[in-house]
Formats: sequence, structure tokens, C-alpha cells
Amino acid sequence: MFRILKRFFVVLLLFSVACGCSKAPRKGSGYYEENQKIKVLSTIAMIDDVVGRIGGDRIDHISLISGEIDPHSYELVKGDDEKIATADVLFYNGLNLEHGASLCYKLQKHPHATALGNDVLEKHPELILKTENTPDPHLWMDISSWIYVIDPIVNSLATVDPEGKEYYVENARILRLEMLSVHEKIYNLIQSVPEEKRFLVTSHDAFGYFARSYLATPEERENGNWKKRFKAPEGLAPDGQLSARDIQSIMDHLLAHDIDVVFAESNVSQDSLKKIISASREKKHEVHFSQRVLYGDAMGSYDDPVSSYLEMIEKNAQSLLKEWNYE
Ligand SMILES: [Zn+2]
Repeated sequence: MFRILKRFFVVLLLFSVACGCSKAPRKGSGYYEENQKIKVLSTIAMIDDVVGRIGGDRIDHISLISGEIDPHSYELVKGDDEKIATADVLFYNGLNLEHGASLCYKLQKHPHATALGNDVLEKHPELILKTENTPDPHLWMDISSWIYVIDPIVNSLATVDPEGKEYYVENARILRLEMLSVHEKIYNLIQSVPEEKRFLVTSHDAFGYFARSYLATPEERENGNWKKRFKAPEGLAPDGQLSARDIQSIMDHLLAHDIDVVFAESNVSQDSLKKIISASREKKHEVHFSQRVLYGDAMGSYDDPVSSYLEMIEKNAQSLLKEWNYE
């Protein structure tokens, strides 16, 4: 009996070594794969997608806020504590995007959490837009600015996984080239539309970086006059609160630039824009909703998600062109 048992354990040991599972699987990580890979949690999908490209098959990665949920006011739900506690590395946007109190508290307590936007603010302050001294968190809307989150992601992954450093650096190099190429493509596409058409009105202030980078003329980018290219009734975080002054200000803007279309955002209520459309019609200025929604703070619904961060920005550009009849 003893000999049979001994043979059984030898076979088990050999099998374990052969299949590379000599270490016990991780425990307590029910939201991630049960393996030895680095567990990485990102707050939003736009970060998670870039992290996945850099981490490749050395990491398991998930995003905390998925689908069409608003990241600005997100509060922890059941299971989030475990996702955060079992993450080896955590990435969030910062610049006050994730300002829900329960999430904010946990992000600041995690030992390997990086606020990517804050890192960019520190190292490249000229890239960060501000509204009345408050940083605009929607950095991902300009691909050429979002490229600057690559380095802090590589550094953080290499800190917990030094053996993977070269792999991460190489993946980052390839991703950077792809991002630059898509950025250039979108820039050329939008700049081919006459500048008098390149005005954008959406629900909240998510498209400032997009406007500066893609809608503005080179001169406007230099002299700061690009801001007229984009306007939204709600502020840096969608709040649904509209004063008569807000409505009037957007209506004046629509008239001044002969804008007849407003763009709904996939994850924000359309109520504010509806009020503006109806107030404009009362003043005999015909304004309508765009046929397609834009992706601002989320990468689409569960029914119709975009498959990557770059596709999200490309789809936005295509939707604008379609609406402007410059497809
Ligand atoms: Zn937003």
C-alpha cells in the first residue's frame, strides 16, 4: 500500500513540474484567473485596455468601472473591496476623476496604486487642461497626450515584476507607435473638414483635449483660441444641473458658430441637450441630435461596446465626419 501511495505522489510531482504548475495557485483572487500572473486592476476601461497591451500575457487585468457607468461619481459596490485588495498593481486616472468617497479612500490606501493623470501633470504640466484652476481629467480624449501614461504603467509593472521589464518596454514601444499612427490618422481626417464646420457641443466637458488636439487649427492650438471649438452645458463632471444662464450661453454659442447639431454622450443623460434643443427651436434656430452618440467617459454599452481604446477615439471621429457629411 505504501509503495502504491509513493508511486502516486511521484507521478503527481512529475505532472506538476511538466505542466508548469509547481507553485500553488493564488488564493482569494476570485475576480482574476487563478494563476501566478500579476493581477492588475484599473478603474476605467480606457486605462485597462492600454495596461493589457503593455502587460500582455504576464498579467491578468480587469477594470473596476465597466459598461456605461459614470466614473466621476462611482462608489464601491459588492465585490469591489476584494478586487482592490487582491490586485498586485492598481492604476487610476486621478486628476479628481474618481471622486466617489469610498473609491477615493481605497485608491489612496493601496500600496501599488498609480494616479496616471497626476503623473502626467507632474512631468508634463503643459499637457493638462484646467477650468478655473481645476484640472480636466479627460486626458484620454487626445491620443497624443494619453501616450504619456505608458511610461508610468511600464514602471509600475516592472516594480512588482522586474523580470518582465524588457517585455513591458517592448510592448510599450509597439503600442506607442500604433497610438501615434492612429492619432495622426484621426488628426488628418478631421483637419480635412473645413474649419468653420469643426465645432462640437456635447453634454459635459469631456472633449476639451479632443478639441485642442483635433478640432482646432494649428494657430488656435498655439494661441489658446481653440476653446471655442467645444462647449457643453454641464461641467467637468456631468451633474444634470442647468441654470437659465447655462442654456443661454450654449444657445448663443450655437448661433455664433452656425451649429445645428449637438452630440449626446453614450453614458450621460440627454436631458440637458434636450432643453437646449427645445429652447433653440423656440428662438427659431433649428438644432437636432446627432444620429450617433459619442464615447466620452466610457467605452460603450454591454450591447455595443467598442473593442479598444483606440477604436473608441476613431469611432468618435467617424461619427463627427458622418454628421458633418464629410465621410
Ligand atoms: Zn467626464
